Amino acid sequence: MKLVDFRQPARADEARAALKELGDSAAPIAGGTSMVFLPGNEEKVAVDLMRLGLDGIRRENGAFRVGATTRLAVLQKHHEAGWVLDRVAVHLASQQIRNMSTIGGNIARVFPWSDFAVAL
Ligand SMILES: Cc1cc2nc3c(=O)[nH]c(=O)nc-3n(C[C@H](O)[C@H](O)[C@H](O)COP(=O)(O)OP(=O)(O)OC[C@H]3O[C@@H](n4cnc5c(N)ncnc54)[C@H](O)[C@@H]3O)c2cc1C
Repeated sequence: MKLVDFRQPARADEARAALKELGDSAAPIAGGTSMVFLPGNEEKVAVDLMRLGLDGIRRENGAFRVGATTRLAVLQKHHEAGWVLDRVAVHLASQQIRNMSTIGGNIARVFPWSDFAVAL
């Protein structure tokens, strides 16, 4: 895959509109760390999901709600009774990858080494 342009929507409706307009030429991007694993020269326009306010961890009715663009480093640093995903995150790749990579990206495209698809 070859990125030829970059869109940075600030709201979910803008992101939806961009993805609809671009169709198959859109590449939704969160941390962007999987791009290195995608072969080929197909031209795509990146649609950055990181400014949509989809990140964060909150407790709700005895469970945790984790936003799609929450970075793995944030999961790693979160400590609270009942929280176990820090123990998954700390073993994943390197700190640099955890600083960039998101939980949504880790489970939206599953590679043989994807840890959160298994842990969740
Ligand atoms: C050298 C290296 C080693 C790694 N080792 C491991 C490892 O041991 N274990 C492990 O689990 N991971 C590992 N990773 C990370 C993993 O391979 C992915 O690159 C990463 O989890 C993707 O997250 P991201 O936020 O960067 O997603 P991106 O690369 O931005 O996106 C990944 C895919 O998900 C889609 N996507 C992203 N967010 C959303 C969303 N919110 N909704 C819908 N679709 C979405 C994108 O369109 C894309 O297809 C490694 C990465 C690298 C570079």
